[in-house]
Amino acid sequence: MAKHIFVTGGVVSSLGKGLTCSSIGMLLERRGLRVRLQKLDPYLNVDPGTMSPYQHGEVYVLDDGAETDLDLGHYERFTNAPLTKDCNYTTGKIYLSVIQKERAGHYYEGKTVQVIPHVTDEIKAAIRSLAVDDVDVVITEIGGTVGDIESLPFLEAIRQFALDVGRENVVYIHLTLVPYLKAAGELKTKPTQHSVGALRQIGIQPDVLICRTEHPISAEEKDKIALFCNIERRAVIEERDKQFSIYEVPLSLLNNGLDEILVKRLNLKVGPLEIDDWRDLLDRVMHPEREVTIAVVGKYIRHRDAYKSVYEALDHGGIAQHARVIVKRIEAEEVSREGAAALLAGVDGLLVPGGFGMRGIEGKIEAIHYARTRGVPFFGICLGMQCATIEFARHVLGYEDANSTEFSTDTSHPVISLMDEQRGVKQRGGTMRLGAWPCQIVPESRAWAAYGRERISERHRHRYEFNNAYRQSFEDAGFRISGTSPDGELVEIVEIPEHPWFVAVQFHPEFQSKPTAAHPLFRDFVGAALRRREEARSEVEAY
Ligand code: GLN
Repeated sequence: MAKHIFVTGGVVSSLGKGLTCSSIGMLLERRGLRVRLQKLDPYLNVDPGTMSPYQHGEVYVLDDGAETDLDLGHYERFTNAPLTKDCNYTTGKIYLSVIQKERAGHYYEGKTVQVIPHVTDEIKAAIRSLAVDDVDVVITEIGGTVGDIESLPFLEAIRQFALDVGRENVVYIHLTLVPYLKAAGELKTKPTQHSVGALRQIGIQPDVLICRTEHPISAEEKDKIALFCNIERRAVIEERDKQFSIYEVPLSLLNNGLDEILVKRLNLKVGPLEIDDWRDLLDRVMHPEREVTIAVVGKYIRHRDAYKSVYEALDHGGIAQHARVIVKRIEAEEVSREGAAALLAGVDGLLVPGGFGMRGIEGKIEAIHYARTRGVPFFGICLGMQCATIEFARHVLGYEDANSTEFSTDTSHPVISLMDEQRGVKQRGGTMRLGAWPCQIVPESRAWAAYGRERISERHRHRYEFNNAYRQSFEDAGFRISGTSPDGELVEIVEIPEHPWFVAVQFHPEFQSKPTAAHPLFRDFVGAALRRREEARSEVEAY
C-alpha cells in the first residue's frame, strides 16, 4: 500500500513548496522508492491554461497534453516520476467533475450535494488516483497558504485521508517562514506558531516543520518552535536560502535529516542513497569553467516565472557545457524602442520563447533580424519560430507585409496561419494542439546533429503553424525545414544551414530538459554561443 506525504505552506506564499516536494521526491526515489507527485491548486480555473502568465507564470505542458502548474516542471526536473493530468487538480476541476456528476442525475442518489462529503470525496479520489500499482509514496502539494478560505476543502480532505488509510501511513509536512527582524536583531517564530495553530484548529497536526529562513535558527529557537507547535524537536528542519542553485535543496534537506525522518515515520523499506551524479551536477554549477551571455527577448519578461522552464533549460545547457549562463532578459517592446543593436550588442546568443498575441512581435522580429544577419546563435521556440519565419519572409523573400494570421488577417503573405484542425474552435480552454507529438528529423541537419536520431517526441502548445504554401520559396532561399510531423504535413523545425547556429522549433523543448540531462538543442545552442564568445575573444586578443 502506498504511503502519503502532504505538504502545506504557511505564513506567506512563494516559499518554494514545489521545490521542497521535488527534493523530497528526488531523495526518496534515489533510495529506490517509486514516487508520484501531485499538486492541488485552490483556484477556480479548471487549469492554468487560460490564465495570463502575469498571474500565474508559465503553463507547464505534459506529454498527455495537460496544461499544468509550473511546479510540475520542478517535479519532472528533479525526479523520474511519470506525470499525467491526474497530477494537477484545481478547485475548478474538482467542482466541474462534481457538478457534471450531479447533472447526470444518478450519481448522488438524490442527496443534497455538499462540500463535505462530496467535494472532499472528489479530492480524496484525486489523491488516491496516484496511489496505484507498485507506487511506494505519493507526495501531494497543497497550493496556497493555510488560512486561505479556498484551501479549506483541500485541507479537510487531507485530514480525512489519514482516517481512511491510517495515520501511520501519512506524514504532514508544513513549510513555513521564520523571518528575521533587523530592528530586533532576531528571528521571529510567532508567525510559524500561528500558522501551525491554524492547521491544528482544522485537525491537522504537522509531523515535520520545514522552516524557511535567511539566517541560521539557533538550538533554543528550534526548541521553542518544537514546544509551541507540538512537533518532535528533530523534525523542526531549518531550510536556509540557497546561495548558488535550487539544485542544492535536496542535499540541504538530506543534511538536515529529513529523509531519515520520513523513512522512519512511514516505515519505508529503502536502499542506500545514490546521488553521486547530483553531487557532480552541483559541483559543475558551483565551479563553471566558462561564462556565456544569452539574451531572452519576450513579452512577459517582467514576471520572473513566465519562462521558467526556458531559463532552467538554459542553465542545463550551461551545466552540460561546463559553463555559467548569464541571461539578459529583454522586453520585446524595448527592442522596438531602443533598437536591437543597442540591446543585443555583446550577447553571445539570442533566444525568443513562446507567447501569444500581438504585443512585442515587432521587437522580436527585429531582434531575430539582428541575430540572423550578424551570425549570433539563435534559438526560436514556438512563437519564436513563427517570428523567425516572418522575419525571413520579410527581409530575404521580400514579402514586406508577411505575418502570422494571429496578428494580421489581411496580410498578403500569411506565412504562419491557423492549423486546419483549429478552424471553428471557439472554446479557448484546453483546445490548442497540446502535448507530445512525434517529429521526423531530416538527416545531416543541425537538429539531427543535436538529437542524434531521426524520430523524436516533443511537447506542443499552439494553434498556428508554418503555412505549407510557402515551403518551396523558403527552402529555395536557404531556410531549411529540418523536422516535420511524420506525415510531412506540419513543419516542426526550421534552420538556416549557412548561419553558425540558427534553429527554431514549433514545439517546447524546455519541458523535457533536466539538470542531469540537458535537452540536446539547449546544449548545442549554449555550445554555439560559447564558440561565438571564444571567437570574439580571440579576435580581440589578435588585435
Ligand atoms: N501564439 C502562437 C500559436 O498559438 C504560439 C504559441 C506558443 O508560443 N506557445 O501558435
